[in-house]
Amino acid sequence: MKKKIGVSYTEILFKNYWNWFTHEDLKDEFELVELSFEKNNTPDIYKCDGLVLTGGVDVHPSLYKGADTYNNSPELFHLERDVFESKIYHYAQLNKLPVLGICRGMQLINVLEGGKLIQDLDNGNERHKKEQTDKEHVINVESNSLLNKVAGSDTGHVNSAHHQAIDPSAIGSNLKVNAFENDDEKIIEGLEFADKTNKGFMLCVQWHPERIREKEYNPLSENLKKEFMAAVRDTHNKKLVITNPANDEIIAALNEDSRESLVKKIELLHSSQATWDSESIVYRVEVIKKFSALLEENIEQLASVLSTEVGKPLQQSRNEINGARSRIKWMADNAERFLSDEVMTITEGLQEKISYEPLGVICNISAWNYPWLVGVNVFVPALLAGNAVMYKPSEYSTLTGLEIERLLKKAGVPENIFHMAIGGKETGEILVQMDFDGYFFTGSFKTGKHIYETVAHKMVPCQLELGGKDPLYVCDDVKDVHSVATATADGAFYNNGQSCCAVERIYVHERIYDEYIYAFIKEVRSWKAGLPGEQAVHIGPLTRKMQLDLLEEQVQDAINKGAKLLAGGKRMNKKGNFFEPTVFTNVTHDMLLMREESFGPIIGIMKVKNDAEALKLMQDTEYGLTASVYSDSKQRAEKILKQLNTGTGYWNCCDRVSAAVPWSGRKHSGIGSTLSHQGLRAFTKPKAWHLKIS
Ligand code: NAD
Repeated sequence: MKKKIGVSYTEILFKNYWNWFTHEDLKDEFELVELSFEKNNTPDIYKCDGLVLTGGVDVHPSLYKGADTYNNSPELFHLERDVFESKIYHYAQLNKLPVLGICRGMQLINVLEGGKLIQDLDNGNERHKKEQTDKEHVINVESNSLLNKVAGSDTGHVNSAHHQAIDPSAIGSNLKVNAFENDDEKIIEGLEFADKTNKGFMLCVQWHPERIREKEYNPLSENLKKEFMAAVRDTHNKKLVITNPANDEIIAALNEDSRESLVKKIELLHSSQATWDSESIVYRVEVIKKFSALLEENIEQLASVLSTEVGKPLQQSRNEINGARSRIKWMADNAERFLSDEVMTITEGLQEKISYEPLGVICNISAWNYPWLVGVNVFVPALLAGNAVMYKPSEYSTLTGLEIERLLKKAGVPENIFHMAIGGKETGEILVQMDFDGYFFTGSFKTGKHIYETVAHKMVPCQLELGGKDPLYVCDDVKDVHSVATATADGAFYNNGQSCCAVERIYVHERIYDEYIYAFIKEVRSWKAGLPGEQAVHIGPLTRKMQLDLLEEQVQDAINKGAKLLAGGKRMNKKGNFFEPTVFTNVTHDMLLMREESFGPIIGIMKVKNDAEALKLMQDTEYGLTASVYSDSKQRAEKILKQLNTGTGYWNCCDRVSAAVPWSGRKHSGIGSTLSHQGLRAFTKPKAWHLKIS
């Protein structure tokens, strides 16, 4: 895989940077990634092995408490560029990636390290300011510097095109000057780290090596580039490779987080959380509402990222994002009501109240099947309540995770209040060992149990939203068997059955059984399977290839034990993770299909004699997420649902979630609740106040 160099620049003279790096000899080894604040393509930063910050308009004075106006100040600053490039620089430092800072890039790095700038060089402008062509002068390179080693010389000849400079009385912390102009004014020409222990390669120069005359022969251009590239070549970032489940093609390779970068992130979260908590709840609600507005604005792009990464049909991706927005709306509208202090008793001389304090820094390890929905269930109420969040999306939905991070920050969530952890199981394991004030996990029972056991000794809340084997019963009194069959088929197969609350087992009263099966199969056969972007596609590829093996095992086991296959039963004969929608009858509870979570487009349907038999079968599971009864009688349905140990009961509906009521599993389906007022308060610690007025 080629090493990737991210170059952040604006339109002006960008070709010089491009040409500098794309020398013929290097093309097989390196690839350039355009990083552009105008496109705000933050996710691309995470693909890079080395980063270059380039020249351009002055850094915004607010970043270093400089005067608003000064000689030669530009008509327009690019504050958004400063913010975007700050992200790049901080990312590079978190991951010890090689960095080159050129001209403005150097000035920004000095500012980001706490230094200041001379806003205008006045007389010095005669020697430095860009006019028709760059100016030129001699520099002295400090002995004992990295630059000296790279240049192989104490002196050199460089070009000049700037009117600002590094303020010698305000050099950023841990930076040192490595070159000065050979003139009485001693303009600073280069910076590097003073103490390089535990730091990646970093060189900053005031000149423009990418366009200097005879750059191939000038060591202050050619050697600089070569050393930077050698440092990039020497990076060993573990990559998270993301493939498109519809065609098996690689769509991205992202740097995984290391233990070290995660330690730094959690430190930043801990040190910043109190500031976020000190904001009013009204302010935090505004930020979250802005986030929701950004989802609406960007829905087509976000849906496309989601479909490409997890394979769901494009319309289902749009539905998911809209679903996330309606959950956010409920939480934002109700946050103030449920997170503000509650006065419980007022008597003469005494007030008793409850306040809801944030847990602190919480860890959110998430699943891929509905990354927007399951993510929003956790990080939105956590942020509303004043927590800082470490969010680990599933390795199968990380590109969506990056979009979530990008838009939360754009909406106004401060940089160190939300961090993302990139990686899979190993990254999750590291997080579980770290010190968080609460763990909120969505995923499989196996992983959830492991996390619960591992964090138990920390004595902090640990909430689990896990899998299910959700039953559905169709009573003999339903008025329209055909429409019930259609709706319940959708409950089983929507999102290819990859929903925690997908219908996983169906029981049908014998009086309507034949009619139901006929209509159910007719519905399943009507669906179009295909690429997520195709018109009217209902069945896309499964997200994870390994799920195909599990489905094949369930099919074979069911056939071996006497089940009758009415539809599907195998992989589709095409590229990607496609599996035919599969329907079995004549099933029993001895079969894997009726006991273990399938999480795919497969269903077993059983004929039952009466409600008692249906109830007994529905109860026969280790899971307890949802259960559904279709009947003309609310009373009859409620009587059955009350006897089931599940977090949710559905009458005449299934596979749905509402932000107004708690989302919770029992037994192997989890512990604790998200959504509703319970879910808002799940991220808080109640404090009891006894206030006695003497
Ligand atoms: P998973 O358990 O394989 O992975 C979930 C997350 O845990 C991922 O981010 C993964 O990287 C991480 N992880 C894996 N091993 C880990 C370890 N040892 N330590 C720490 N982290 C680890 O589950 P999945 O395949 O992503 O999700 C599918 C499962 O999630 C299904 O069982 C589904 O029913 C369930 N789910 C439940 C709900 C709910 O609300 N109850 C919602 C969505 C999905």
